[in-house]
Amino acid sequence: MSLTTSTLDLIDHHCHGVVRHDLDPPAFEALLSEGGAAPAGMSNFDTPAGLAVRRHCAPVLDLERHAPPADYLQRRAELGTEEVTQRLMAAARTRLFLVDAGFRGAELLSPAELGAAAGGQAREIVRLESVAEALAGDGIDAGGFADSYADALATAVTTTRAVGVKSVAAYRVGLDFEAAAPARQEVRLAADHWLERGPGPHGWRLDDPVLVRALLWSAVEVGLPIQFHTGFGDRDLALHRANPLLLTDFIRAVPERLPVMLLHCYPYHREAGYLAAAYPQVYVDVGLALNFVGPGRAGAVLAEALELTPFAKMLYSSDAFGLPELYHLSAVVFRRALARLLEDRVHSGEWSAADAVRVAHMIGSGNAERAYALESRDVH
Ligand SMILES: [Zn+2]
Repeated sequence: MSLTTSTLDLIDHHCHGVVRHDLDPPAFEALLSEGGAAPAGMSNFDTPAGLAVRRHCAPVLDLERHAPPADYLQRRAELGTEEVTQRLMAAARTRLFLVDAGFRGAELLSPAELGAAAGGQAREIVRLESVAEALAGDGIDAGGFADSYADALATAVTTTRAVGVKSVAAYRVGLDFEAAAPARQEVRLAADHWLERGPGPHGWRLDDPVLVRALLWSAVEVGLPIQFHTGFGDRDLALHRANPLLLTDFIRAVPERLPVMLLHCYPYHREAGYLAAAYPQVYVDVGLALNFVGPGRAGAVLAEALELTPFAKMLYSSDAFGLPELYHLSAVVFRRALARLLEDRVHSGEWSAADAVRVAHMIGSGNAERAYALESRDVH
């Protein structure tokens, strides 16, 4: 059997975009960690992801494996942002990207540009909070919030031909929010308070727990798969409030036919696996984490996630943001980790080779195709 790593068809069901402007060395390094810039005297190249970039991305830019960081950054500058992006995105060999364009979107390639750079396709995922924040910026009144939001979300989904929506409730209020849909009067009051508070230094930020619930229940009405950020993320997050188990009541409350996509999950990927095993609508990925734990531990994390997650419920994502390196690295690390795990099963005599190949295709692309109903949404 060969599951060789380079040929597995991949759909990246959660990623962002690549920075469109040139990056100086500090800006590059800041994007190489969820913690941003490294403290003085340290480098983000001295992390599993940093070493993996030197190992796996350097050859794509015609350098030797393990090229020193300074050489890598110099070569990057020589080739220019467009060429570097095109080479690394193509090297990821990812057929389709589902892109959350709702975070720092102006700095990033659009979904269409991202797909073109990779020689693949891209479709959009609408971020629920961004739609509400845009409405607030338009000067909406509190009394009409619920209806205006429902209309705006429907319009956003239609105009972008989105195949799913995403919630960053984990970042804004934590996942321990009340599960039930809020009453109309509650929404009106909460909207009143939120709109009165006004935008913060970085613009409007939807962080009211009642409104977060109102958005989610509007999304349930739309009926597209709902992605949730869970687990690992940047410093804006209180990680202990991002454990996907905190969504248990919400999962029980939504229709069983509505896919709930638990993104990232690490270090709660075993908990997420339990939810996927227990509830028909729950799907799981370990995106982001595989890049940051690096190739040395990616296999262990993936294996832990697959202890309980049914094979029809695991998806691939990179959660790459900003650097094209992270798309390539994620695809390399994921393909290798999955191939090794499945080959072990076959070599130990537990699985047939045919089953291993079948499961690889389910996880790489088949589950995403089914859960997002991609064929019926004109994505091939
Ligand atoms: Zn993300």
